[in-house]
Amino acid sequence: MTPATLRLEGGPVAAALDTDTRQRIHAVGSSGGPPTLASVHLGGESPFQFYLRRQRRAAEGLGIRFEEVALPDGATSADLRSTLRRLDEDPSVHGVLVEHPLPAPLDFRGAVDLLRPEKDVDGVGSTNLGRLLGPHPLQVPAVALASLAIARHYRLPVEEQPVAVIGRSETVGMPLAALLAGRSPGPSATVTIAHSRTPNLKLALAGARTIFSCVGRPGLLTRDVVPEGAAVVDVGLSSVPDASRPGGVRPAGDADPASLDGWAAALTPVPGGVGPVTVSELMHSTVESWERQRRDRGAGR
Ligand code: NAP
Repeated sequence: MTPATLRLEGGPVAAALDTDTRQRIHAVGSSGGPPTLASVHLGGESPFQFYLRRQRRAAEGLGIRFEEVALPDGATSADLRSTLRRLDEDPSVHGVLVEHPLPAPLDFRGAVDLLRPEKDVDGVGSTNLGRLLGPHPLQVPAVALASLAIARHYRLPVEEQPVAVIGRSETVGMPLAALLAGRSPGPSATVTIAHSRTPNLKLALAGARTIFSCVGRPGLLTRDVVPEGAAVVDVGLSSVPDASRPGGVRPAGDADPASLDGWAAALTPVPGGVGPVTVSELMHSTVESWERQRRDRGAGR
C-alpha cells in the first residue's frame, strides 16, 4: 500500500528563493536605481488583475520596483510593439513581462521577440527558448524553473529518472521538458511528453516516477491514469465554479486530489504549490537580469 500522499507546499521553496533575491539586492546596494520589472497587459478588468496584484506584492516585498503598463482597450499590434520598444530601450527597466494569452489580432510571439533577450525576463522569446536547448541558457521561463525547484527541494525522483510532462505549449510544457532532459546542471531525466493527441494517457504515464501536469483541465489526473507511487507536480491552474466562494469560483489544478490521496507519493496543492514559486522565480530572474545589465553597462557593453 502507498503511504499517505505528501503535500508539497510551494511556500518553503519560494521563501528560500526570496532570501537569495533579497541578499543579491542588498549586496549590490541601491545606488543606480532598484531592479525594475515592467508588466505589460491589457487594461480593464481581466483575469490578469489577480496575477498583477500577486506580482506587485511579491516585487515590492523584495525591493523590486514593479511598473504596470496597461494597454488601452482596442490596442493594436502597433501600440503593443511601440510600448515594448520603449521599455526595451529604457535602461531603468531590467525585465519586461507580457501577460498572455493576448486576444487576436495582438501577436504575443511577434511582441516578445522584439525584446532583447536580457529583458525577456520570463524567457519566452525565441532567442531564450532556443538557448534553453544549448549549454548556455540565459532567461528560462519561471514556471519551468519553479517546477524543477519544487522537485529538487522535495527530492522527487527526477535526476536521471523517467518523468512525464503533460502539455506541450511553447511557454510552459516544452521549456519544462527541455529543462528536465538537460545535461548537468540539469537533471538528465528521460522525458515523455503527452498532449491532447496522445492516444492513451495512462500508457504514456506508465513508468514515470514524477509527472508534471501543464494542461489546465481540472480532474485530468486521477488514479485511473497516474501510476501508483508517482509524484505529481501540478502546474495547471483553472477556475472552477464554487458557490461558497466570493466571486463564485475557486482555483483548481489538473489533479483530482481526492482520487490521488493515498495513491500518489506526493502532490503539489493548487493553490499554494507551483504558483508562489513561479512568482519568486520571476523576481529572482529579474534581479539576475538587473545584476547582468549593471555589469555590462559598467564594462561599457
Ligand atoms: P496551453 O497553451 O493551453 O497548453 C495546454 C497543453 O495541454 C497543450 O499542449 C494541450 O495539447 C495539452 N492538453 C489539452 N488537453 C489535454 C488532454 N486532455 N490530455 C493531455 N494534454 C492535453 O496552456 P499553457 O499556457 O501551457 O498553460 C498550461 C497550464 O499551466 C494552464 O492551466 C495555466 O494556467 C497553467 N500555468 C500555471 C502557472 C503557474 O505558475 N502555476 C504558470 C503558467 C501557466 P495540444 O498541444 O495538443 O493542444
